[in-house]
Amino acid sequence: GKIVQTFRKQRLLASVEIANNSKYYILNLLDINLLLEKGYLNYLSQYDTYLGLTPSIYFSLDDNNANKTNLSELINSYNHFITQKINVMDLVDHDVYSFINDYESIHIDTIIDQSILWLTFMFIFIFVQVADSSRIIQFRAKHDELTGLLKLTALEAEFLKASYAKRGNNFSTVILKVDFFEEMYISLGYKISDELIKSVSARIYESTHNIALIAKGASDSFVLYFFDISPESLKQKIKSLIMELSEVHLIDNNELNLTVSGGAVTYKQLDLFNIRLNLQQANIALGKAKELGGNQLYFYQQFMEDKHNETVTIRNNLQNALKNNALEVFYQPVHRLNENTITGVEALVRWSNGNEWVSPAKFIPIAETTGQIVQVGEQVLNKVIEDIKKYPQLQNMTVAVNFSTKQIIKDDFASNLLSLLTKNNIIFENFTVEVTESSFQEKKAIEKKLIELVDSGLNVAIDDFGAGYSSLSYLTHQPANIIKIDREFTIGAHLVNTKEQKMLDTIIRVCYDLDKKVIVEGVEDEELIKHLSQFEGIKIQGYFFSKPLPIDSLIAYIKNSKNEHRLLR
Ligand code: C2E
Ligand code: CA
Ligand code: CA
Repeated sequence: GKIVQTFRKQRLLASVEIANNSKYYILNLLDINLLLEKGYLNYLSQYDTYLGLTPSIYFSLDDNNANKTNLSELINSYNHFITQKINVMDLVDHDVYSFINDYESIHIDTIIDQSILWLTFMFIFIFVQVADSSRIIQFRAKHDELTGLLKLTALEAEFLKASYAKRGNNFSTVILKVDFFEEMYISLGYKISDELIKSVSARIYESTHNIALIAKGASDSFVLYFFDISPESLKQKIKSLIMELSEVHLIDNNELNLTVSGGAVTYKQLDLFNIRLNLQQANIALGKAKELGGNQLYFYQQFMEDKHNETVTIRNNLQNALKNNALEVFYQPVHRLNENTITGVEALVRWSNGNEWVSPAKFIPIAETTGQIVQVGEQVLNKVIEDIKKYPQLQNMTVAVNFSTKQIIKDDFASNLLSLLTKNNIIFENFTVEVTESSFQEKKAIEKKLIELVDSGLNVAIDDFGAGYSSLSYLTHQPANIIKIDREFTIGAHLVNTKEQKMLDTIIRVCYDLDKKVIVEGVEDEELIKHLSQFEGIKIQGYFFSKPLPIDSLIAYIKNSKNEHRLLR
């Protein structure tokens, strides 16, 4: 059956839908929070605890955090955890993970002691009512209910059976995954989607069960182990399987089409059989296949892992930097061309990992995917506010800060920002929120937030205009009073009468017609500056004037530029 999970206040219910005539079991989880004393619970609020049903489904046992998540996400977002397996009816081991979310008030040793104590409590309160203990349960323990294929958890035991282990000395792991399955699931509904998975499963089984050990992975993925097969013939085999799978599936009189992607990895020694490692590497290859549009097979190569590892390393180191409040902020001056005065600065985050600077172009996108961007943004904003309070020079110019849409989309973003600025006596019109154009899905929500900010008197700048998919028509209903034209648009634009120059000029004029201020970014050369000076009030930010500077150098730069006028002719 399907496990339907419902969350109630303070309680996790897992109800099991029972198929006709089939044997069943019921798992009953009692709510420990209610059973334990309040005071003790406060103490335990320093942990977030999750119960794993499958590797991809982890339930929070805290009522204020009723989300379903997966293990790798959890492990990525916490530094320390303790874990324990709960065995239910000798069938499945459920993992319980307690993550430490607050270190401040507790000593590390007591954390561990108390956690173990608490986990013991928890085990006591897990009651398992077994309605049947027949072979069906044994079978179910090993086999996926929908497809009848082996479960991933049963794969290892199967592999160790001599028959497989003796087949040659090399093996390959392949993961097959349906492309865009989630979208299909949403539009087809679960019944048809399930049938579709069965049909895919049947074709995979049909064409490979003689030569491979097949297991069902999470929702729409299949894991295949091939033994003693050359990479060349494996490639042929999987490619033709992928072709076969893309042929029409007839389900309930519907003709359905889908495509499947594959990630593969081959090993020369049997002792590299390690499901975790094999799947991890095959998954990296699968990611590549998906990235390339799907419907194809990709073989794992070491460089992919290097890239993957670099990402993981950056993420972990960044987590430390965040914890130690180690991010810094540099400022790049913005010049108004006509008077050649500094009218503002842009705050840019800087991170020194060990002894070298890591470019924000590298870690910001990673932080966006891990969610760390919200914390990065908060630290940057706090540093900028400190600097504004400390340096009067920053108080009579606009200070621009970059915000990720992940920050802006939060419900209380505008109110928090406004009250923070108010609390610190920062004049709204001297503060600019910089944001890059948002993706189509979140456009409406972001626009609403930005309007709130503009209405309150803050400046809103659309960053990197011209890079990516921005369009001129988009400008007309843009809730922003400043447009920052991306460096991409200025390449070649210093040359008189080129297409590039005409483009740039047109954009600036459109912005002016719409009453938007314009900052041209990334200007490095004097010729372009001369050309741009025909536009009244135009502002320039770029290496021609200055690179981003640490605050001391910026203050010195501002002082100097007051005395020594940098004349352009
Ligand atoms: P951005 O907001 O477009 O910032 C301008 C980038 O262009 C900066 O790179 C700056 O150093 C660089 N730049 C400025 N003038 C020139 C020039 O004349 N020539 C060239 N080639 N480059 C120039 P940086 O500091 O490496 O930042 C990269 C991006 O990272 C930023 O692009 C921004 O999108 C993001 N970023 C930086 N700080 C933050 C932050 O605090 N929060 C968020 N969410 N994103 C940030
Ligand atoms: Ca920016
Ligand atoms: Ca920019």
